[in-house]
Amino acid sequence: MRVAFIGLGHMGAPMSRNILAAGHDLVVHDLRRDAAAGLLADGAAWADSPREAGAGREAVITMLPGPSAVTEVLLGGGGLLAGMAPGAVWIDMSTSVPAVADRVRAQAAPLGIEVLDAPVSGMVTGARDGTLQIFVGGDAGTFAAARPLLEAMGDPARIVHAGPHGAGYTVKLMINLLWFAHLTASAEVLTVGTRAGVDLATLRRCLLASPAASHFLDRDVLSVLEHGDYDEGFALALACKDLGLAVDLARESGVPVPVSAVVEQIYRQARARYGDAGGEMLPVKLLEDLTGTPLRLSPPQE
Ligand code: NAD
Repeated sequence: MRVAFIGLGHMGAPMSRNILAAGHDLVVHDLRRDAAAGLLADGAAWADSPREAGAGREAVITMLPGPSAVTEVLLGGGGLLAGMAPGAVWIDMSTSVPAVADRVRAQAAPLGIEVLDAPVSGMVTGARDGTLQIFVGGDAGTFAAARPLLEAMGDPARIVHAGPHGAGYTVKLMINLLWFAHLTASAEVLTVGTRAGVDLATLRRCLLASPAASHFLDRDVLSVLEHGDYDEGFALALACKDLGLAVDLARESGVPVPVSAVVEQIYRQARARYGDAGGEMLPVKLLEDLTGTPLRLSPPQE
């Protein structure tokens, strides 16, 4: 397939590499040309603008920070939409909101351009390994045609047609909202339990064997507990963007979400303290620093 990929950051660079490895003909674009160096060496071609990237491509994928970048790339001067041919499909894999895609779709439909939202879960490791979970919103036929391309980046068993346009974005935002809530709640529980005198490993083991167990406590928290790694592969600026979009969606849906609002504020505190580029798990460190309680498991004894 003739494919273009725009947005070669933490996620986009390894995802586009997998598209290339699957044998597709690839053109890439980013604000930072240096982000494409490895891909160009491996056979991808460079485009100077989104419009140039989209010209003559059957599918164009965007993996951008959020709604404003998506709007700029699609509809701005030298925008992607102006360059795409009838029958082509734009697949937005960014974590974004239906409203932006609706605006694009209103302009894309008369041009005969198809649109799918297909955001992902699975972190940088999933992008690298081609095992992302992908949630797709849009027409079922367009989804079926795009599936081989999505399978180059994701785990076939976890590529889901979530529903009509926008459903993919919504599912993704709800996953992130719940994960961030798991993280902040787990940080509190581990800190209180430890400060109250229980050994961290014992506390975690008891929680995992209880009805309060979670995937977060079982797997994801280990990067902090074992390595002091707060996952810089997903920046706090993006986490705050996702939480803002999720709380906005709740407001638009008429649902009061006091827990989510507090989680968003905790993330904004962490961003103010550790900066935009800090890792998404830094709200754990916020509590560690506030209470002087490092959450670290001792290495196993030989
Ligand atoms: P990133 O900031 O590392 O990469 C974004 C890329 O987009 C950068 O290379 C940037 O230069 C480029 N860009 C920004 N504006 C542009 C424009 N106008 N034109 C061309 N290029 C532009 O972000 P990321 O971590 O790769 O995340 C990308 C998307 O995926 C976000 O929506 C994020 O929420 C989502 N996401 C990230 C992760 C993760 O673990 N990092 C996981 C799942 C989903």
